[in-house]
Amino acid sequence: MSNPSVVLRKIHDIGFENRPVPEIKDPHFVKIAIKCTGICGSDYHYYETGSCGSFVVKEPMVLGHESAGVVVEIGDAVEHLKVGDRVACEPGVPSRYSQEYKSGHYNLCPHMAFAATPPYDGTLCKYYLLPEDFLVKLPDHVSLEEGALAEPLSVGVHSNKQIGTKFGDRILVIGAGPVGLLAAGVARAFGATKVLILDISQTRLAFALEHNYATHAYNTKGKSESDVLAYIKKHWNGELPTGAIEATGVPACIAMAINLLDKGGRYVQVGMGPSAVDGFPIAKVGENEITVFGSFRYCVDDYKTSIALIADKKINVKPFVTHRFTFKQAIDAYKFFGEGKAIKIMIAGPE
Ligand SMILES: [Zn+2]
Repeated sequence: MSNPSVVLRKIHDIGFENRPVPEIKDPHFVKIAIKCTGICGSDYHYYETGSCGSFVVKEPMVLGHESAGVVVEIGDAVEHLKVGDRVACEPGVPSRYSQEYKSGHYNLCPHMAFAATPPYDGTLCKYYLLPEDFLVKLPDHVSLEEGALAEPLSVGVHSNKQIGTKFGDRILVIGAGPVGLLAAGVARAFGATKVLILDISQTRLAFALEHNYATHAYNTKGKSESDVLAYIKKHWNGELPTGAIEATGVPACIAMAINLLDKGGRYVQVGMGPSAVDGFPIAKVGENEITVFGSFRYCVDDYKTSIALIADKKINVKPFVTHRFTFKQAIDAYKFFGEGKAIKIMIAGPE
């Protein structure tokens, strides 16, 4: 048995390697045959620059963290999964001893072993190990590709849980990249009656409206904050957003989101921006009692919520996969990602 893997050796240098097949040593672990993996902006960032945020690739690393697969072996203590089950793989396992884990914020655990985040290998390989409780069994009518999409979808779920999106909310989403689009779709699924998404790509805005990820879309190319305000007032009966999901990290967008929120509004930072931002409207935060939240990856039950949203048809993620590549074409897939034409590229698992 072998374990073909797609390995980032250094910047712009990816290739295939045959890695050892991982062995189950902890009885709570499960071996999964990976069947599909989406390419994420962070994977590509490592490929382009060798780093992402504060993480730097020093040793060759297997790429990929948005995966689903089929259970091929289970440890002796595994209770809820069996060989042959189809599963979505939550790709980050925290230390079970950390304070963050114990306090219910395992996504913030400093000892997190996260796929394709140095020094940990990713999931773009044939066999991968995860503990049972970081796998979500897919219902029969949910495809493996939909299972792989649970990863970016869970980022959208977590951000909406952070601001407590509920029925009747009016949500502003800035940025229609994969995360912004899915966060908007989750806001709709959680009951937001109005969701406005902003971007400069007409294609992505049209996608958001077509698949009901948003009720309103506005192209901000060449537009100012007051143009957006006028649009909202006209289309929302003079009412302002109760929540804002910032998915760009662009300083001007951050300020705009805070400025456009209704009094008592909730703001969540999802986009990765510069380490500090000039012109942050802190006076508005004080005067309007805006609550500012952070959001990092996903935490307990977010993956389950994602699969439930898909299974319940509360969000249709199928159209999200715009391009498909075989495992052998994985290098081409990474190059194609750089052209920015795809919403989500899916790479099939090795034969
Ligand atoms: Zn991702």
